[in-house]
Amino acid sequence: MITIKRKQKILIADDSEMNRSILADMLEDEWEIMEVENGVQAIAAMEKYGVELSLLLLDIVMPELDGFGVLMAMNEHKWIEDIPVIMISAESSPTYIERAYEMGAVDFIVRPFNEVVVRRRVLNTILMYAKQKRLMGMVAEQIYEKQQSSNMMIDILSHIVEFRNGESGWHVRHVHTLTELLLEHLVQKTDQYQLSQDDIATISMASALHDIGKIAIDEKILNKPGRFTDEEFAIMKTHSAIGAELLQDLPLYQDEPLVKFAYEICRWHHERYDGRGYPDGLKGDEIPISAQIVAIADVYDALTSERCYKKAFPHEEAIRMILDGKCGVFNPMVLECLTDIADQLPKELQEEPAMGDDQRNLKNVAQEMLHHADLTASDRTLQLLEKEREKYSFFATMSKEIQFEYNVSPNILTLTPWSAKKLSANEIIAEPRKSDSVRDILGLNNWQELSERLRATSRENPVITYDCKILYQGEPRWSRIVAHAMWTTEEPHMYQGAIGKVIDIHDTRLRLDVLEQLATHDRMTGLLNHASAKEQIIGRMTQKPERTYAMVIFDLDHFKMANDTYGHIFGDQVLQHTAETLRQSIRDTDLAARVGGDEFLLFLEYQQELEPIIERIFHSLTGRYEDFDISVSMGVAKTEEVGTDYETLFHCADQALYTVKRSDRGHYRFYEDSMNKMLSVISPIDGSPEEV
Ligand code: GH3
Ligand code: MG
Repeated sequence: MITIKRKQKILIADDSEMNRSILADMLEDEWEIMEVENGVQAIAAMEKYGVELSLLLLDIVMPELDGFGVLMAMNEHKWIEDIPVIMISAESSPTYIERAYEMGAVDFIVRPFNEVVVRRRVLNTILMYAKQKRLMGMVAEQIYEKQQSSNMMIDILSHIVEFRNGESGWHVRHVHTLTELLLEHLVQKTDQYQLSQDDIATISMASALHDIGKIAIDEKILNKPGRFTDEEFAIMKTHSAIGAELLQDLPLYQDEPLVKFAYEICRWHHERYDGRGYPDGLKGDEIPISAQIVAIADVYDALTSERCYKKAFPHEEAIRMILDGKCGVFNPMVLECLTDIADQLPKELQEEPAMGDDQRNLKNVAQEMLHHADLTASDRTLQLLEKEREKYSFFATMSKEIQFEYNVSPNILTLTPWSAKKLSANEIIAEPRKSDSVRDILGLNNWQELSERLRATSRENPVITYDCKILYQGEPRWSRIVAHAMWTTEEPHMYQGAIGKVIDIHDTRLRLDVLEQLATHDRMTGLLNHASAKEQIIGRMTQKPERTYAMVIFDLDHFKMANDTYGHIFGDQVLQHTAETLRQSIRDTDLAARVGGDEFLLFLEYQQELEPIIERIFHSLTGRYEDFDISVSMGVAKTEEVGTDYETLFHCADQALYTVKRSDRGHYRFYEDSMNKMLSVISPIDGSPEEV
């Protein structure tokens, strides 16, 4: 994924504060949002921030000036080329949409919208424009460098000519500007001449060389204040052919468009549309358009400037003279162009050249190149993206699987529509960690665990599986989540989120659960069996040997009596009751097991005083079940005293219990070393201890 420079500006123009804030909420993590409430304010913001704005989200119906009015202004100011516009409107009629696109909007989103769609389209548009701007900058820079040097040479050459002609230094520049304006206008009027922006730039540049042939003309003739004699005029007229020859004689660059256009211009800028010009008497469009345009530009500037042989005519008069045919016959189409731009001319030709003339040129050329190369590629990319999205959503729906996409920034969990329905959740869940749906459906612990595991993956091994219970429309089902973490391609690789699906493993998992339960638990009481308790106890003591643990073993007193008096089934109930009481009086983390018969085991971790805990548990176990008085004898051993070897610990607790049984039953005792001595004198025959 491409990372965009953060906090580019997005302008939202919408009269409804609520609409603005919905959009702002969606986008403000990624972008700096600016809000305006009508078209007039939108235009003011664009005037102020210009290309700093990466995007305009534009509503249609607004007070003061509506969305179309804003688009119109953007076209007038040419902002539309630099600031992409996405229309957002509840109006979905095709005429509105068509009009928006025609006026240069890049996209149209109909309200109510889906947040993901908005985010993706905004991102796509910004990326596309950013890329285009970057490319444009690059191309423009290259052209600029190349042009700078040729411009300089042309400037020098043409100044030499001007200097000899006694013309003002501005003639060449004016002809350049006029040529460019006329050509720009011409290509808007007709495509008859097949001129690209590049051609326009080159012709304008080449126009500077139109009089280069004059370097071969005697200065006395060139600067003669009065009328020419026929002979002088004949000499003067040779300058166009001479200029063309000069260019033709260039040993190199013959294939350069600049040289070709310069040749046309030099040779034929004194031809006339009616065939009465020189040197070749070309007629109509036999005269290259480059030369036709430069000819009229040359005439206009000559008329409006002071020369050694004449005064300057005012602008309006000059135009009238040309249109009236006082200065020769021109192509009607070219004359139309001149009429159209006439009003602009005085301003454009002010002695100070319009700022950024070069840049405007460059921008046009660059734009045209990019229009062919890049824009079409971007369109294609967008189309492909759109296709992928459709494909994805089709398969997602068909697969009847729960599929999701998680994005870290902005922090959003997205479900496919089918999945959202299945889980009774929204398709888009912002801040999943704080969301009620995630808490209810998945559980926050599971969410936390999943997030941690995904973050712990790498780009090389991005896939994890995680089993947990998920609430499907209120029903908990065992599910397996398979997720693929997304990492950025650039170094350092950053975790960006994940995509994944949820597989229903409810039945399999339940079968496994039963088997597991059978293997590790005592069937009658549901407590752990001894073997599995032992395994877990050893595990805990090995993992955290520095902590303090206690083992408690207890046995029901005179339990045989319950069996004998009320029957075996009643005896079972007593055992189940005891197990339940035990479960309720310990913490979840303590381990409780039935060791066998009426003997139980308890393993717990404690921090300070153990005795109050034992006391409490002991008393909760003592009581009555129906007509049977429950009493227990209990022995306790602490790892602090006997170490963490399981057998020793068990043995010591058992000895303490035994000591209790040997005395009067019905209480608890902690293991002491002296108990060991007692045991060593137990009679091996009847198992009853001999008093020492
Ligand atoms: P003491 O005070 O010395 O512990 O005497 P007691 O009667 O409790 O005898 P002891 O603990 O030695 O024997 C336990 C008796 O529990 C033996 C057996 O008949 C009975 N028993 C063992 N397992 C079960 C069982 O699963 N269900 C029932 N109802 N009774 C069982
Ligand atoms: Mg017993």
